[in-house]
Amino acid sequence: MDQCQGRTKAGNRCKRSASAGFLYCSTHADQARTGRSGTKSPGADAPEILVGTPEERGALDTLIVAAALGAAVVVVFAFGKLLRL
Ligand SMILES: [Zn+2]
Repeated sequence: MDQCQGRTKAGNRCKRSASAGFLYCSTHADQARTGRSGTKSPGADAPEILVGTPEERGALDTLIVAAALGAAVVVVFAFGKLLRL
């Protein structure tokens, strides 16, 4: 018999055996009826819509600033060369 696919209130995987022919034990049968797999709570879906973690987005911002500064340095360097000619 398969293990129940349901989740306990604490968010842990249910350790009980699923009812015959079902993915959930009798306790978590209501989770099956909601159409959810029982692996995620409704609130857990929201953060995944955003690309990357807040730390990764911050790193990307830093990269963009660094690239802009690099481009500015190149422009200043090119103008300096032009003025010397
Ligand atoms: Zn269960």
